[in-house]
Amino acid sequence: ATEYSSLFTFFGGTGDLAKRKLYPSLFKLYVRGNLGEHFAVLGTARDSWTDDKFREVVTQSIKDDQPDADMHAAEIFVSHFYYIAHDVTDKAHYAVMKDLVEKLDKQYSINGNRIFYLSMAPRFFGEVALNLKSEGLLSENGSNRLVIEKPFGTDFTTAETLNDQLSGAFDETQIYRIDHYLGKEMVQNIQALRFGNTLVESLWNNRYIDNVQVTLSEKLGVEDRAGYYDTAGALRDMVQNHIMQIVSQLAMEQPVSFTDADVRVEKIKALRSLRVYSPAEAAKNFIRGQYGANDTEPAYRDEPNVPKDSHNDTFVAGKLLFDNYRWSGVPFYVRTGKRLADKFTRIDVVFKKPLIDIFAFPQNRDNSLAPNVLTIYVEPNSGFSLQLNAKTAGQGFETEPIHLDFQQDVAQKEETPEPYERLLHDTLKGDQTNFASWDEVSYAWKFVDVIQKLWDSETPDFPNYISGSMGPAASDELLQRDHRAWVYRL
Ligand code: NAD
Repeated sequence: ATEYSSLFTFFGGTGDLAKRKLYPSLFKLYVRGNLGEHFAVLGTARDSWTDDKFREVVTQSIKDDQPDADMHAAEIFVSHFYYIAHDVTDKAHYAVMKDLVEKLDKQYSINGNRIFYLSMAPRFFGEVALNLKSEGLLSENGSNRLVIEKPFGTDFTTAETLNDQLSGAFDETQIYRIDHYLGKEMVQNIQALRFGNTLVESLWNNRYIDNVQVTLSEKLGVEDRAGYYDTAGALRDMVQNHIMQIVSQLAMEQPVSFTDADVRVEKIKALRSLRVYSPAEAAKNFIRGQYGANDTEPAYRDEPNVPKDSHNDTFVAGKLLFDNYRWSGVPFYVRTGKRLADKFTRIDVVFKKPLIDIFAFPQNRDNSLAPNVLTIYVEPNSGFSLQLNAKTAGQGFETEPIHLDFQQDVAQKEETPEPYERLLHDTLKGDQTNFASWDEVSYAWKFVDVIQKLWDSETPDFPNYISGSMGPAASDELLQRDHRAWVYRL
Protein backbone atom coordinates (compact mmCIF):
# COMPACT_ATOMS: atom_id res chain seq x y z
CA ALA A 1 0.00 0.00 0.00
CA THR A 2 1.14 3.53 -0.70
CA GLU A 3 1.94 5.38 2.49
CA TYR A 4 0.80 8.98 2.76
CA SER A 5 1.74 11.69 5.18
CA SER A 6 -0.82 14.19 6.32
CA LEU A 7 -2.07 16.18 9.23
CA PHE A 8 -5.82 15.75 9.58
CA THR A 9 -7.83 18.38 11.38
CA PHE A 10 -11.37 17.26 12.10
CA PHE A 11 -13.78 20.08 12.89
CA GLY A 12 -16.75 18.63 14.74
CA GLY A 13 -14.30 16.06 16.07
CA THR A 14 -16.57 15.05 18.95
CA GLY A 15 -19.61 14.61 16.69
CA ASP A 16 -21.59 11.57 15.64
CA LEU A 17 -20.18 11.23 12.13
CA ALA A 18 -16.58 11.53 13.30
CA LYS A 19 -17.07 8.80 15.87
CA ARG A 20 -19.18 6.45 13.79
CA LYS A 21 -17.42 6.75 10.45
CA LEU A 22 -14.37 8.95 10.22
CA TYR A 23 -12.11 7.56 12.96
CA PRO A 24 -12.89 3.89 12.26
CA SER A 25 -12.26 4.49 8.54
CA LEU A 26 -8.97 6.23 9.23
CA PHE A 27 -7.94 3.28 11.39
CA LYS A 28 -8.65 0.89 8.53
CA LEU A 29 -6.38 2.95 6.30
CA TYR A 30 -3.74 2.74 9.00
CA VAL A 31 -4.07 -1.05 9.22
CA ARG A 32 -3.83 -1.31 5.42
CA GLY A 33 -0.57 0.64 5.54
CA ASN A 34 -1.76 3.89 3.98
CA LEU A 35 -0.69 5.76 7.08
CA GLY A 36 2.64 5.06 8.72
CA GLU A 37 4.66 7.22 11.08
CA HIS A 38 4.08 10.51 9.37
CA PHE A 39 0.58 11.47 10.23
CA ALA A 40 -1.27 13.18 13.04
CA VAL A 41 -4.90 13.84 13.80
CA LEU A 42 -6.15 16.96 15.47
CA GLY A 43 -9.70 16.77 16.73
CA THR A 44 -11.47 19.97 17.50
CA ALA A 45 -14.92 20.98 18.71
CA ARG A 46 -16.41 23.03 21.50
CA ASP A 47 -16.29 20.28 24.12
CA SER A 48 -13.40 20.66 26.54
CA TRP A 49 -11.75 17.28 26.12
CA THR A 50 -8.17 16.32 26.88
CA ASP A 51 -5.95 14.35 24.51
CA ASP A 52 -6.50 11.31 26.73
CA LYS A 53 -10.25 11.61 26.63
CA PHE A 54 -10.11 12.02 22.85
CA ARG A 55 -7.94 8.92 22.48
CA GLU A 56 -10.34 6.94 24.67
CA VAL A 57 -13.29 7.96 22.53
CA VAL A 58 -11.46 7.11 19.32
CA THR A 59 -10.39 3.74 20.72
CA GLN A 60 -13.98 3.02 21.67
CA SER A 61 -15.26 4.03 18.24
CA ILE A 62 -12.78 1.59 16.66
CA LYS A 63 -13.97 -1.19 18.98
CA ASP A 64 -17.62 -0.45 18.21
CA ASP A 65 -16.98 -0.54 14.49
CA GLN A 66 -14.49 -3.39 14.37
CA PRO A 67 -14.92 -5.78 17.33
CA ASP A 68 -11.97 -7.88 16.08
CA ALA A 69 -9.61 -4.94 15.65
CA ASP A 70 -5.97 -5.34 16.64
CA MET A 71 -6.04 -3.21 19.80
CA HIS A 72 -2.28 -2.99 19.96
CA ALA A 73 -2.25 -1.34 16.55
CA ALA A 74 -5.13 0.87 17.72
CA GLU A 75 -3.05 2.02 20.68
CA ILE A 76 -0.19 3.16 18.43
CA PHE A 77 -2.71 4.70 16.03
CA VAL A 78 -4.41 6.81 18.70
CA SER A 79 -1.08 8.04 20.03
CA HIS A 80 -1.09 10.24 16.90
CA PHE A 81 -4.33 11.91 18.05
CA TYR A 82 -4.55 15.32 19.73
CA TYR A 83 -7.47 17.43 20.81
CA ILE A 84 -8.05 21.13 21.13
CA ALA A 85 -11.25 22.85 22.28
CA HIS A 86 -12.13 25.56 19.82
CA ASP A 87 -15.07 27.70 18.86
CA VAL A 88 -14.90 28.06 15.10
CA THR A 89 -16.47 31.51 15.24
CA ASP A 90 -13.73 32.87 17.50
CA LYS A 91 -10.73 33.96 15.46
CA ALA A 92 -8.40 34.04 18.45
CA HIS A 93 -8.63 30.27 18.77
CA TYR A 94 -7.15 29.76 15.34
CA ALA A 95 -3.83 31.15 16.58
CA VAL A 96 -3.66 28.45 19.26
CA MET A 97 -4.60 25.87 16.67
CA LYS A 98 -1.95 27.16 14.30
CA ASP A 99 0.80 26.68 16.89
CA LEU A 100 -0.31 23.13 17.54
CA VAL A 101 -0.62 22.31 13.84
CA GLU A 102 2.91 23.57 13.20
CA LYS A 103 4.26 21.67 16.17
CA LEU A 104 2.64 18.41 15.06
CA ASP A 105 3.81 18.97 11.51
CA LYS A 106 7.41 19.08 12.75
CA GLN A 107 7.02 16.34 15.33
CA TYR A 108 5.72 13.83 12.75
CA SER A 109 7.71 15.15 9.75
CA ILE A 110 4.54 15.74 7.75
CA ASN A 111 6.01 18.30 5.33
CA GLY A 112 3.01 20.60 5.29
CA ASN A 113 0.38 18.21 3.92
CA ARG A 114 -2.91 19.22 5.49
CA ILE A 115 -6.44 17.90 5.31
CA PHE A 116 -9.13 19.97 6.97
CA TYR A 117 -12.32 17.96 7.40
CA LEU A 118 -15.44 19.94 8.24
CA SER A 119 -17.78 17.52 9.97
CA MET A 120 -20.07 20.03 11.59
CA ALA A 121 -23.18 22.08 10.91
CA PRO A 122 -23.01 23.44 7.34
CA ARG A 123 -23.64 27.01 8.47
CA PHE A 124 -20.01 27.06 9.67
CA PHE A 125 -18.38 25.75 6.47
CA GLY A 126 -17.73 29.11 4.84
CA GLU A 127 -16.54 30.84 7.99
CA VAL A 128 -14.10 28.05 8.90
CA ALA A 129 -12.61 27.96 5.42
CA LEU A 130 -12.04 31.70 5.39
CA ASN A 131 -10.58 31.68 8.89
CA LEU A 132 -8.20 28.86 8.04
CA LYS A 133 -6.75 31.04 5.34
CA SER A 134 -6.79 34.41 7.10
CA GLU A 135 -5.33 33.02 10.33
CA GLY A 136 -2.48 31.31 8.51
CA LEU A 137 -3.33 27.63 8.94
CA LEU A 138 -2.70 26.73 5.34
CA SER A 139 0.78 25.42 4.74
CA GLU A 140 3.04 26.86 2.12
CA ASN A 141 5.14 23.83 1.34
CA GLY A 142 2.65 20.95 1.16
CA SER A 143 -0.88 20.30 -0.04
CA ASN A 144 -3.95 21.86 1.57
CA ARG A 145 -7.24 20.03 1.12
CA LEU A 146 -10.67 20.93 2.43
CA VAL A 147 -13.22 18.16 2.86
CA ILE A 148 -16.79 19.22 3.46
CA GLU A 149 -19.81 17.23 4.45
CA LYS A 150 -23.25 17.55 3.01
CA PRO A 151 -25.50 19.39 2.56
CA PHE A 152 -23.90 21.87 0.18
CA GLY A 153 -26.44 24.70 0.43
CA THR A 154 -30.22 24.43 0.50
CA ASP A 155 -30.78 25.77 -3.01
CA PHE A 156 -28.66 27.20 -5.82
CA THR A 157 -28.35 30.64 -4.24
CA THR A 158 -27.17 29.46 -0.84
CA ALA A 159 -24.86 26.93 -2.49
CA GLU A 160 -23.33 29.67 -4.60
CA THR A 161 -22.79 31.89 -1.57
CA LEU A 162 -21.09 29.01 0.23
CA ASN A 163 -18.98 28.21 -2.78
CA ASP A 164 -17.88 31.83 -3.09
CA GLN A 165 -16.76 31.73 0.54
CA LEU A 166 -14.84 28.49 0.07
CA SER A 167 -13.26 29.85 -3.10
CA GLY A 168 -11.93 32.76 -1.07
CA ALA A 169 -9.63 30.32 0.70
CA PHE A 170 -9.30 27.17 -1.43
CA ASP A 171 -9.36 26.59 -5.15
CA GLU A 172 -11.56 23.96 -6.78
CA THR A 173 -8.74 21.39 -6.93
CA GLN A 174 -8.44 21.64 -3.14
CA ILE A 175 -12.13 21.26 -2.29
CA TYR A 176 -13.50 17.75 -1.69
CA ARG A 177 -17.30 17.77 -1.45
CA ILE A 178 -18.37 14.53 0.15
CA ASP A 179 -21.13 12.51 -1.44
CA HIS A 180 -20.75 9.16 0.27
CA TYR A 181 -22.73 7.37 -2.44
CA LEU A 182 -19.73 8.01 -4.67
CA GLY A 183 -17.69 5.92 -2.27
CA LYS A 184 -19.90 2.88 -2.77
CA GLU A 185 -18.37 -0.03 -4.65
CA MET A 186 -21.20 -0.58 -7.11
CA VAL A 187 -21.65 3.09 -7.91
CA GLN A 188 -17.99 3.08 -8.93
CA ASN A 189 -18.67 -0.14 -10.80
CA ILE A 190 -21.08 1.67 -13.15
CA GLN A 191 -18.04 2.92 -15.01
CA ALA A 192 -16.36 -0.48 -15.20
CA LEU A 193 -19.57 -2.07 -16.38
CA ARG A 194 -20.16 0.52 -19.07
CA PHE A 195 -16.73 1.31 -20.39
CA GLY A 196 -15.20 -2.11 -19.87
CA ASN A 197 -17.82 -4.08 -21.80
CA THR A 198 -18.60 -3.86 -25.50
CA LEU A 199 -21.79 -5.77 -24.82
CA VAL A 200 -23.03 -3.09 -22.47
CA GLU A 201 -21.76 0.18 -23.88
CA SER A 202 -22.74 -0.59 -27.46
CA LEU A 203 -26.37 -0.88 -26.36
CA TRP A 204 -26.23 2.03 -23.92
CA ASN A 205 -28.43 4.50 -25.80
CA ASN A 206 -31.96 5.32 -26.88
CA ARG A 207 -31.99 2.76 -29.70
CA TYR A 208 -31.86 -0.11 -27.24
CA ILE A 209 -32.74 1.25 -23.80
CA ASP A 210 -36.37 1.90 -22.99
CA ASN A 211 -35.95 3.48 -19.57
CA VAL A 212 -33.64 3.62 -16.58
CA GLN A 213 -34.78 3.34 -12.94
CA VAL A 214 -32.87 4.38 -9.84
CA THR A 215 -34.25 3.49 -6.41
CA LEU A 216 -32.74 4.53 -3.07
CA SER A 217 -35.08 2.93 -0.58
CA GLU A 218 -34.83 3.40 3.17
CA LYS A 219 -36.64 1.30 5.72
CA LEU A 220 -36.08 3.57 8.70
CA GLY A 221 -38.09 6.68 9.42
CA VAL A 222 -36.66 10.04 10.39
CA GLU A 223 -35.29 8.68 13.69
CA ASP A 224 -33.78 11.53 15.72
CA ARG A 225 -32.83 13.74 12.78
CA ALA A 226 -36.11 15.69 12.48
CA GLY A 227 -34.41 19.00 13.31
CA TYR A 228 -32.46 18.80 10.07
CA TYR A 229 -34.69 16.56 7.98
CA ASP A 230 -37.92 18.48 8.43
CA THR A 231 -36.27 21.53 6.87
CA ALA A 232 -34.71 19.52 4.03
CA GLY A 233 -36.96 16.72 2.78
CA ALA A 234 -36.23 13.83 0.44
CA LEU A 235 -35.79 15.97 -2.67
CA ARG A 236 -33.00 18.06 -1.18
CA ASP A 237 -31.57 15.35 1.07
CA MET A 238 -31.29 12.58 -1.53
CA VAL A 239 -32.12 13.68 -5.07
CA GLN A 240 -30.01 16.82 -5.39
CA ASN A 241 -26.83 14.96 -4.44
CA HIS A 242 -26.85 11.14 -4.45
CA ILE A 243 -29.41 10.50 -7.16
CA MET A 244 -28.07 13.20 -9.45
CA GLN A 245 -24.56 11.79 -9.03
CA ILE A 246 -25.70 8.28 -9.90
CA VAL A 247 -27.78 9.45 -12.84
CA SER A 248 -24.96 11.55 -14.27
CA GLN A 249 -22.68 8.50 -14.26
CA LEU A 250 -25.31 6.44 -16.02
CA ALA A 251 -25.90 9.14 -18.62
CA MET A 252 -22.40 10.47 -19.26
CA GLU A 253 -20.33 9.89 -22.39
CA GLN A 254 -17.10 7.94 -22.26
CA PRO A 255 -14.39 10.06 -20.65
CA VAL A 256 -11.07 10.50 -22.44
CA SER A 257 -9.37 8.75 -19.55
CA PHE A 258 -10.34 7.58 -16.12
CA THR A 259 -8.93 10.57 -14.26
CA ASP A 260 -10.85 12.96 -12.06
CA ALA A 261 -10.56 15.84 -14.51
CA ASP A 262 -11.75 13.82 -17.52
CA VAL A 263 -14.61 12.13 -15.65
CA ARG A 264 -15.85 15.45 -14.31
CA VAL A 265 -15.99 16.97 -17.77
CA GLU A 266 -18.35 14.23 -18.92
CA LYS A 267 -20.56 14.28 -15.84
CA ILE A 268 -20.96 18.02 -16.16
CA LYS A 269 -21.78 17.68 -19.85
CA ALA A 270 -24.48 15.13 -19.01
CA LEU A 271 -25.96 17.40 -16.34
CA ARG A 272 -25.96 20.30 -18.75
CA SER A 273 -28.20 18.35 -21.08
CA LEU A 274 -30.62 17.44 -18.30
CA ARG A 275 -33.89 19.20 -19.05
CA VAL A 276 -34.65 21.79 -16.37
CA TYR A 277 -38.41 21.78 -16.03
CA SER A 278 -40.88 24.63 -16.14
CA PRO A 279 -43.15 24.64 -13.06
CA ALA A 280 -45.90 22.95 -15.13
CA GLU A 281 -43.52 20.21 -16.28
CA ALA A 282 -42.24 19.78 -12.73
CA ALA A 283 -45.81 19.30 -11.49
CA LYS A 284 -46.31 16.57 -14.06
CA ASN A 285 -42.98 14.79 -13.70
CA PHE A 286 -42.29 14.89 -9.97
CA ILE A 287 -44.45 13.62 -7.13
CA ARG A 288 -43.89 13.70 -3.38
CA GLY A 289 -45.08 11.78 -0.39
CA GLN A 290 -45.02 11.60 3.38
CA TYR A 291 -45.40 8.41 5.37
CA GLY A 292 -48.41 7.64 7.50
CA ALA A 293 -48.61 5.11 10.28
CA ASN A 294 -48.97 1.37 9.95
CA ASP A 295 -49.75 -1.17 12.68
CA THR A 296 -46.37 -0.81 14.35
CA GLU A 297 -44.82 2.46 13.21
CA PRO A 298 -45.98 6.04 13.78
CA ALA A 299 -46.74 8.55 11.04
CA TYR A 300 -44.01 11.06 10.18
CA ARG A 301 -46.04 13.81 11.85
CA ASP A 302 -46.04 11.84 15.09
CA GLU A 303 -42.28 11.38 15.18
CA PRO A 304 -40.28 13.26 17.83
CA ASN A 305 -39.69 16.93 16.95
CA VAL A 306 -41.77 16.86 13.77
CA PRO A 307 -44.50 19.54 13.62
CA LYS A 308 -48.00 18.02 13.56
CA ASP A 309 -48.79 19.86 10.34
CA SER A 310 -45.47 19.24 8.60
CA HIS A 311 -45.62 19.29 4.80
CA ASN A 312 -42.15 17.86 4.48
CA ASP A 313 -41.56 15.24 1.79
CA THR A 314 -40.24 11.89 3.01
CA PHE A 315 -40.66 10.41 -0.47
CA VAL A 316 -40.04 11.65 -3.96
CA ALA A 317 -40.35 10.07 -7.38
CA GLY A 318 -39.65 11.75 -10.66
CA LYS A 319 -38.80 11.47 -14.30
CA LEU A 320 -35.66 13.02 -15.72
CA LEU A 321 -35.00 13.65 -19.39
CA PHE A 322 -31.69 14.30 -21.10
CA ASP A 323 -31.86 16.34 -24.26
CA ASN A 324 -28.96 14.83 -26.13
CA TYR A 325 -28.36 12.43 -28.98
CA ARG A 326 -27.75 9.41 -26.76
CA TRP A 327 -30.77 9.75 -24.48
CA SER A 328 -33.44 11.64 -26.33
CA GLY A 329 -36.76 9.93 -25.51
CA VAL A 330 -35.43 7.74 -22.68
CA PRO A 331 -36.88 8.59 -19.27
CA PHE A 332 -34.76 8.15 -16.16
CA TYR A 333 -37.19 7.41 -13.34
CA VAL A 334 -35.87 7.99 -9.83
CA ARG A 335 -37.39 7.46 -6.41
CA THR A 336 -36.31 7.59 -2.81
CA GLY A 337 -38.04 7.65 0.50
CA LYS A 338 -38.11 6.78 4.14
CA ARG A 339 -40.14 4.02 5.80
CA LEU A 340 -40.39 2.01 2.61
CA ALA A 341 -40.63 -1.76 2.34
CA ASP A 342 -36.92 -2.45 2.60
CA LYS A 343 -33.47 -0.87 2.71
CA PHE A 344 -31.71 -1.12 -0.64
CA THR A 345 -30.28 0.81 -3.54
CA ARG A 346 -30.58 -0.53 -7.07
CA ILE A 347 -30.45 0.59 -10.66
CA ASP A 348 -32.60 -1.13 -13.29
CA VAL A 349 -31.83 -0.56 -16.94
CA VAL A 350 -34.79 -1.72 -18.99
CA PHE A 351 -34.06 -2.55 -22.62
CA LYS A 352 -36.52 -2.38 -25.45
CA LYS A 353 -38.30 -5.56 -26.42
CA PRO A 354 -37.60 -7.08 -29.82
CA LEU A 355 -39.73 -5.25 -32.38
CA ILE A 356 -41.49 -8.46 -33.33
CA ASP A 357 -42.22 -11.40 -31.08
CA ILE A 358 -41.99 -14.25 -33.58
CA PHE A 359 -42.84 -16.73 -30.86
CA ALA A 360 -46.29 -15.30 -30.40
CA PHE A 361 -47.41 -15.65 -33.99
CA PRO A 362 -49.10 -17.41 -35.46
CA GLN A 363 -49.30 -20.36 -33.11
CA ASN A 364 -48.96 -18.96 -29.58
CA ARG A 365 -50.73 -15.69 -29.06
CA ASP A 366 -50.28 -15.79 -25.29
CA ASN A 367 -46.52 -15.74 -25.40
CA SER A 368 -45.02 -12.47 -24.30
CA LEU A 369 -41.38 -11.56 -24.24
CA ALA A 370 -40.12 -9.85 -21.11
CA PRO A 371 -37.73 -6.96 -21.62
CA ASN A 372 -34.05 -7.51 -20.97
CA VAL A 373 -33.23 -5.82 -17.68
CA LEU A 374 -29.78 -5.13 -16.36
CA THR A 375 -29.92 -4.58 -12.62
CA ILE A 376 -27.07 -3.12 -10.62
CA TYR A 377 -27.47 -3.94 -6.95
CA VAL A 378 -25.67 -1.22 -5.03
CA GLU A 379 -26.58 -2.21 -1.49
CA PRO A 380 -26.95 -4.09 0.77
CA ASN A 381 -25.70 -6.72 -1.71
CA SER A 382 -23.27 -5.79 -4.44
CA GLY A 383 -23.92 -7.44 -7.75
CA PHE A 384 -25.49 -7.50 -11.18
CA SER A 385 -28.35 -9.36 -12.68
CA LEU A 386 -29.21 -9.67 -16.35
CA GLN A 387 -32.67 -10.77 -17.35
CA LEU A 388 -32.81 -12.60 -20.66
CA ASN A 389 -35.51 -14.60 -22.42
CA ALA A 390 -34.97 -18.31 -22.89
CA LYS A 391 -37.08 -21.19 -24.07
CA THR A 392 -39.16 -22.87 -21.45
CA ALA A 393 -38.04 -26.49 -21.18
CA GLY A 394 -40.29 -29.02 -22.83
CA GLN A 395 -42.46 -29.50 -25.89
CA GLY A 396 -43.85 -26.49 -27.67
CA PHE A 397 -42.18 -23.11 -27.83
CA GLU A 398 -42.80 -20.73 -25.02
CA THR A 399 -40.31 -18.31 -23.62
CA GLU A 400 -39.62 -17.29 -20.04
CA PRO A 401 -37.27 -14.81 -18.43
CA ILE A 402 -34.12 -16.20 -16.83
CA HIS A 403 -31.48 -14.35 -14.81
CA LEU A 404 -27.72 -14.30 -15.02
CA ASP A 405 -26.70 -13.25 -11.53
CA PHE A 406 -23.45 -12.12 -10.05
CA GLN A 407 -23.19 -11.35 -6.35
CA GLN A 408 -19.98 -10.43 -4.60
CA ASP A 409 -18.89 -13.22 -2.31
CA VAL A 410 -17.82 -12.86 1.29
CA ALA A 411 -14.13 -12.51 0.39
CA GLN A 412 -14.86 -9.75 -2.12
CA LYS A 413 -17.09 -8.01 0.38
CA GLU A 414 -14.29 -8.04 2.91
CA GLU A 415 -11.98 -6.47 0.37
CA THR A 416 -14.49 -3.68 -0.24
CA PRO A 417 -13.71 -0.56 1.76
CA GLU A 418 -16.47 1.38 3.42
CA PRO A 419 -17.35 4.57 1.53
CA TYR A 420 -15.69 6.82 4.09
CA GLU A 421 -12.50 4.78 4.05
CA ARG A 422 -12.36 5.02 0.29
CA LEU A 423 -13.10 8.73 0.25
CA LEU A 424 -10.50 9.49 2.92
CA HIS A 425 -8.03 7.46 0.87
CA ASP A 426 -8.91 9.44 -2.25
CA THR A 427 -8.39 12.67 -0.29
CA LEU A 428 -4.93 11.55 0.81
CA LYS A 429 -4.13 10.61 -2.77
CA GLY A 430 -5.51 13.88 -4.15
CA ASP A 431 -8.02 12.15 -6.41
CA GLN A 432 -11.27 14.09 -6.84
CA THR A 433 -13.10 11.57 -9.06
CA ASN A 434 -15.50 10.56 -6.32
CA PHE A 435 -16.30 14.03 -5.04
CA ALA A 436 -18.87 16.43 -6.40
CA SER A 437 -17.48 19.38 -8.32
CA TRP A 438 -19.00 22.82 -8.03
CA ASP A 439 -20.44 22.66 -11.55
CA GLU A 440 -22.17 19.37 -10.81
CA VAL A 441 -23.58 20.71 -7.57
CA SER A 442 -24.83 23.87 -9.24
CA TYR A 443 -26.57 22.12 -12.16
CA ALA A 444 -28.18 19.71 -9.72
CA TRP A 445 -29.52 22.57 -7.60
CA LYS A 446 -30.87 24.43 -10.61
CA PHE A 447 -32.81 21.33 -11.57
CA VAL A 448 -34.12 20.69 -8.05
CA ASP A 449 -34.93 24.34 -7.26
CA VAL A 450 -37.82 24.48 -9.75
CA ILE A 451 -39.48 21.47 -8.14
CA GLN A 452 -38.88 22.61 -4.57
CA LYS A 453 -40.20 26.08 -5.33
CA LEU A 454 -43.35 24.64 -6.83
CA TRP A 455 -43.85 22.35 -3.84
CA ASP A 456 -43.30 25.19 -1.39
CA SER A 457 -46.13 27.10 -3.07
CA GLU A 458 -48.70 24.32 -2.71
CA THR A 459 -50.14 22.45 0.26
CA PRO A 460 -49.91 18.69 -0.23
CA ASP A 461 -52.44 16.21 1.07
CA PHE A 462 -50.25 14.32 3.54
CA PRO A 463 -49.75 11.65 4.72
CA ASN A 464 -50.22 9.75 1.47
CA TYR A 465 -48.41 6.45 1.86
CA ILE A 466 -48.36 3.72 4.45
CA SER A 467 -45.14 2.87 6.25
CA GLY A 468 -43.73 -0.32 4.78
CA SER A 469 -45.10 0.28 1.27
CA MET A 470 -43.13 1.50 -1.76
CA GLY A 471 -44.53 5.04 -1.56
CA PRO A 472 -47.72 6.75 -2.74
CA ALA A 473 -49.87 5.51 -5.61
CA ALA A 474 -48.76 8.55 -7.62
CA SER A 475 -45.29 6.99 -7.85
CA ASP A 476 -46.69 4.00 -9.75
CA GLU A 477 -48.96 6.23 -11.81
CA LEU A 478 -45.97 8.25 -12.95
CA LEU A 479 -44.79 5.19 -14.89
CA GLN A 480 -48.22 3.78 -15.76
CA ARG A 481 -48.95 6.99 -17.61
CA ASP A 482 -46.00 6.15 -19.86
CA HIS A 483 -47.16 2.50 -20.12
CA ARG A 484 -44.32 1.38 -17.90
CA ALA A 485 -43.86 0.03 -14.37
CA TRP A 486 -41.20 -0.04 -11.69
CA VAL A 487 -39.10 -3.18 -12.04
CA TYR A 488 -38.92 -3.52 -8.27
CA ARG A 489 -42.42 -3.54 -6.82
CA LEU A 490 -44.15 -5.27 -3.97
P1 NAD B 1 -23.01 16.44 15.45
O1 NAD B 1 -24.07 17.39 15.84
O2 NAD B 1 -22.98 15.09 16.05
O3 NAD B 1 -21.60 17.10 15.70
C1 NAD B 1 -21.36 18.47 15.54
C2 NAD B 1 -19.96 18.80 16.01
O4 NAD B 1 -19.71 20.19 15.78
C3 NAD B 1 -19.71 18.56 17.50
O5 NAD B 1 -18.41 18.01 17.62
C4 NAD B 1 -19.79 19.97 18.09
O6 NAD B 1 -19.02 20.11 19.27
C5 NAD B 1 -19.18 20.77 16.99
N1 NAD B 1 -19.53 22.20 17.03
C6 NAD B 1 -20.77 22.75 17.00
N2 NAD B 1 -20.68 24.10 17.07
C7 NAD B 1 -19.37 24.41 17.11
C8 NAD B 1 -18.63 25.63 17.17
N3 NAD B 1 -19.24 26.83 17.19
N4 NAD B 1 -17.29 25.54 17.20
C9 NAD B 1 -16.66 24.36 17.18
N5 NAD B 1 -17.30 23.19 17.12
C10 NAD B 1 -18.63 23.20 17.10
O7 NAD B 1 -23.08 16.36 13.85
P2 NAD B 1 -22.74 15.09 12.90
O8 NAD B 1 -23.93 14.22 12.84
O9 NAD B 1 -21.44 14.50 13.28
O10 NAD B 1 -22.63 15.77 11.47
C11 NAD B 1 -21.51 16.51 11.05
C12 NAD B 1 -21.66 16.88 9.59
O11 NAD B 1 -21.77 15.71 8.82
C13 NAD B 1 -22.87 17.72 9.25
O12 NAD B 1 -22.54 18.57 8.20
C14 NAD B 1 -23.88 16.70 8.78
O13 NAD B 1 -24.80 17.27 7.89
C15 NAD B 1 -22.96 15.73 8.06
N6 NAD B 1 -23.49 14.39 7.94
C16 NAD B 1 -23.69 13.59 9.04
C17 NAD B 1 -24.13 12.31 8.90
C18 NAD B 1 -24.34 11.40 10.06
O14 NAD B 1 -24.60 10.22 9.85
N7 NAD B 1 -24.21 11.84 11.29
C19 NAD B 1 -24.41 11.81 7.63
C20 NAD B 1 -24.19 12.63 6.53
C21 NAD B 1 -23.72 13.90 6.71
